[in-house]
Amino acid sequence: MTAVSGQTRLFGIFGDPVGHTLSPTIHNAAFDALHLPYLYVPFRVSPQFLSASVAAILPLGIRGINITIPHKETVLAHLDHVTEEASAIGAVNTIEVVSGRLIGHNTDGKGFMRSLSESGVSPMGWRVILLGAGGAARAVAVSLIGAGVSEVIIMARTRDRADKLADTLSALSQGASVSVLTSTHMLPEKQGYPTLLINATPLGMKDDDPLPFPATSIEPHWVVADIVYSTGETPLLMAAKRMGARTVPGTGMLLHQAAITFEIWTGRPAPLEAMRSAASSWCDTHKGVSENRHERRETEGHL
Ligand code: NAP
Repeated sequence: MTAVSGQTRLFGIFGDPVGHTLSPTIHNAAFDALHLPYLYVPFRVSPQFLSASVAAILPLGIRGINITIPHKETVLAHLDHVTEEASAIGAVNTIEVVSGRLIGHNTDGKGFMRSLSESGVSPMGWRVILLGAGGAARAVAVSLIGAGVSEVIIMARTRDRADKLADTLSALSQGASVSVLTSTHMLPEKQGYPTLLINATPLGMKDDDPLPFPATSIEPHWVVADIVYSTGETPLLMAAKRMGARTVPGTGMLLHQAAITFEIWTGRPAPLEAMRSAASSWCDTHKGVSENRHERRETEGHL
C-alpha cells in the first residue's frame, strides 16, 4: 500500500456496522494500481453522528465518501445536491466533493447493470421478478426500467414499501407493467418468457437463512442474480444452478459500483482488473475463515 505522507488524501465509507466491508480493499487496490497518494478507510458512524460526520467532510479535506447501511436514505437531507437518479431511487451511496459542495450519487443500479452486461445478459424486453423493496432493490429497479424491461414484479414482505417502489417505477416507466405480489403462488405462469429473478433481500448472508424464493419455481431458461455478496456462492445461486438456470453473483455489482464511484471521484477509468483481483483475494481469505466457522459449527453439532 502507498505510504501515508503529508500528500495523502482521504476517502472512506460511513456506515454502522462497517467491519464486514470489502470496499477499502477494492478502493485501496485501485489507488495503488494508479500510484495515487490516496487512502480509503472505514468510519463506523452511528445514526446520531451522521449529521456531524457529513459536516466534517469539508473541514477535514476528505475527498469522497461512500455511504452504506443504515444511512443511504437519511444522508440525502445533509447534502447540497443529489443527482436525478439518486433522487428517484431515494438513496445515496457515494458523496463527491465539488468546489466545496457535497453531491450525492447512487452507483448501485449502474453497477448492477454492468455486472449483468459482463455476464452477457441484456434484459431489454424481459420480465423481472424482484425480491425485496429496500434501498438496493430501488436502485436496481430504476436502472432496469431505464434499460427497457417489459415487466417488473415486486415481491416483498412489507406491502407499503413495495407499493412505494411500484409507484416510483410506474412514474418512470414508458410502457413497462409494474405489479406487487405478496406470495410466490400468485406468480402468473409465463413459460419460456425471458425472466430475470433478482434477490435484493439480505437472505443468504447468514448460514441459516432460508431461500428467498422456492428453488422448484425457478425455470431453466431464467437468469438468477443475487445482490448479496458472499465469499462463495449463495444458496439461491446454488439452487438456481441445480435447476439449470444461469446465475449472476453479487460480487460483480459490488465491483462495478465501486468502479463507477472511483471514476466519479478521480475522473479516471477504474483499474478494474486490480480491483477484481483484490476482491477475489479478499474472498479467498475470508472463505477460509467462513469454512472453518462452518466446520466448527458442524463439529459442535450446530448444523
Ligand atoms: P434494506 O434497505 O434493508 O432492504 C432489504 C429488503 O429486504 C427489504 O425489502 C426488506 O423487507 C427485505 N428483507 C429483509 N429481511 C428479510 C427477510 N428475512 N425475509 C424477507 N425479506 C426481507 O437493505 P438494502 O440496502 O436494500 O440491502 C439488501 C441486501 O443487498 C443486503 O444484503 C446488502 O448487503 C446487499 N447489497 C449488495 C450490494 C452489492 O454491491 N452487491 C449493494 C447494495 C446492497 P422489509 O422492508 O420488510 O424489512
